[in-house]
Amino acid sequence: MNNYLGLVQGFMESGGKMEQCLEGFIHRDEQLRFAKAVARTFENDTFLAAEAGTGVGKTYAYLVPALIWAKQNQDKVVISTKTKALQQQIIDSDLPELERVMGYALKYTEAKGRDNYVCWHKYQNILAGKKRLEPGETDFVEAILSWAEVTKSGDRKELALKQDLMQYWGLIAADRNNCQREMCSYRDKCFRLKMIKSMNKADLIITNHALLLSDVLVDNSILPEFQYLIIDEAHTFTRESFERLAHRFSLYDTLNVLEVLYVKDKRSKKGYLFHLRSSYAHLSAMIDETGMLVDKAIKLTRKMFDAMCKGLKYGDEFNFSHILSPGDKKREWFADVHEIYRREWKPNIDLLLNKLRDITMELEGQAEGGDLMGITNALQEIDDTAFSILAEEIHFDESITWLDCLKGKAVAICSAAVHSGDKLNQQLYQKLKALVLVSATLAIEDSFDHFIDRNGLSEYAKEGKMETLLEHSPFDYQKQACLYVVRDMPDPSSQVFNREVNQVLADIFLSQGGQTMVLFTSKKHMQEAAAELRPFCKKHKLKLLVQHEDGEFASLVEEFKGHGNSILMGVETFWEGIDLKGEVLKCLVIVKLPFRSPSDPYCSAWDRYYKMQGKNSFANFMLPDAAVRFKQGVGRLIRSERDRGAVVVLDTRLINRNYGAVFKNSIPIKNLISLPRTELKVQLEQWL
Ligand code: SF4
Repeated sequence: MNNYLGLVQGFMESGGKMEQCLEGFIHRDEQLRFAKAVARTFENDTFLAAEAGTGVGKTYAYLVPALIWAKQNQDKVVISTKTKALQQQIIDSDLPELERVMGYALKYTEAKGRDNYVCWHKYQNILAGKKRLEPGETDFVEAILSWAEVTKSGDRKELALKQDLMQYWGLIAADRNNCQREMCSYRDKCFRLKMIKSMNKADLIITNHALLLSDVLVDNSILPEFQYLIIDEAHTFTRESFERLAHRFSLYDTLNVLEVLYVKDKRSKKGYLFHLRSSYAHLSAMIDETGMLVDKAIKLTRKMFDAMCKGLKYGDEFNFSHILSPGDKKREWFADVHEIYRREWKPNIDLLLNKLRDITMELEGQAEGGDLMGITNALQEIDDTAFSILAEEIHFDESITWLDCLKGKAVAICSAAVHSGDKLNQQLYQKLKALVLVSATLAIEDSFDHFIDRNGLSEYAKEGKMETLLEHSPFDYQKQACLYVVRDMPDPSSQVFNREVNQVLADIFLSQGGQTMVLFTSKKHMQEAAAELRPFCKKHKLKLLVQHEDGEFASLVEEFKGHGNSILMGVETFWEGIDLKGEVLKCLVIVKLPFRSPSDPYCSAWDRYYKMQGKNSFANFMLPDAAVRFKQGVGRLIRSERDRGAVVVLDTRLINRNYGAVFKNSIPIKNLISLPRTELKVQLEQWL
């Protein structure tokens, strides 16, 4: 084995090649231990779940052993991240740096979903005037013309256009439904096919969880064969698996495909079939018959989704998920949905698909035949998805089914396995020799058990194939951070909680004068607080930046970094996707402990799963899941050894409930002070 471990050590050790060649690189024992653990995982064909706290330098710690392994053994290594930001950092910064350190050309490539690439067939159709464009669409096409002619990657990331133009990207983006596949005349220029070819030649493929899981879903037909996998940001992998491996039968996706074929309103008839009729008069009878089937399919799709709405409890103003309970499945409204599907929708779609295939055969050799085949494939996929949900999974205890509702109306019916572990095992883990799962937050009270169980890895742990490693952050949290709990806050379930939150926030904003971020668990609560506090901030010359109100994620972060008097309010991505080093962030406020809503299908799935096992779902899912998210949120504060700051928690459950200990024991900050609101200002000023 050419002293593989020794080589890895030679790069990462104190005075090693990384320290010699990479400016600003600081050797850390934690990083060296992690790099060696990754190397042993590769060498011994095992699996590793590793937590590497903030500042360990986890990316280099797995890239170096992965690169040396790939070079020595000609094995492909796939690295998957959750966020585009990390994927980009590895491609644009870390790997070019390592290329310099290693002293030879590395063979790596980036793999993304097809919708990131321009489709040459769609683009050429637009240039040839085959598609009528609306005014905004014309502006977009004009803006990308010179780029499209010269781009080598066809990747949308090269375009620096504003969102009001980028919203039309779908016009030229590669997509499954419109892809001509073998019949495409631009296969030699196709950017997606080039990306697939470059994966075959690469030692290292840098992809994201979305594409990795799509590959699992389509029986490994996207990525080339690989046996070595590193999953970074692995704390998100369970949720990503649940969402990406779910089936979704959508009202609007179905109508979109059907209306591409044929749509009739009071004044006109439009659609691809109508276009075909004018060019192929001898097929007009066949096309008319098919048009009638499309028209019927549109009506039946609407009828079926209208029937679903009869089972909903909430009014027009709400977006929500309605989990189908065993009781729902016995109710009249659901029996109607099932009958419409079984007796009307499905037989009609089958007839329509047969007719479309007949027309495609008649058009063999013509460009239109390729187009029609693409639409037929898209409709077949919808038919398969509807069948999986309404004819199969709806009857399984191991699956959960729900309706996605927008403004009180059902817009999709979805189903997912309550535990995606079996699918991951069959389609992913079993094919691997070595697997590394890493994140800054995997362990709960230093245990990986929940993580291993939820990712379907328990059998590997029992067999002794699964190792774990916990490397704490090298930062001095005792000196750098303090956590305050405001002990006289009302319970978060109290009606006066939100009002009190606004008052404490106003105190904090005034005393800090900016450099403060507030993390909410609910968008509605954040918006109400922002509405209340905006005039206050304006009066005191504080810049309030609110997610979903004051700009996109990246621009909010830039604004926050650029103005010392800024207050940032966020939900979701701000709990984990934001990296504010240095003097930028001094005070982090956590409004509530981040328990998920029980109406979240992901939550319901785990609730069902643990109940089926006879286990307590709060202890096994809700609590550890919230503790990991809390740890992620708290982790936003200290990003380097020079940072110093305070976390303020407004949820007294942290100190009043027994389970609060799980949250406290899971974070690196051990200075915890419980105080009344009146003392907060003085304490913060003293600490900061
Ligand atoms: S092969 Fe598909 S994605 Fe590629 S250019 Fe042709 S139609 Fe577009």
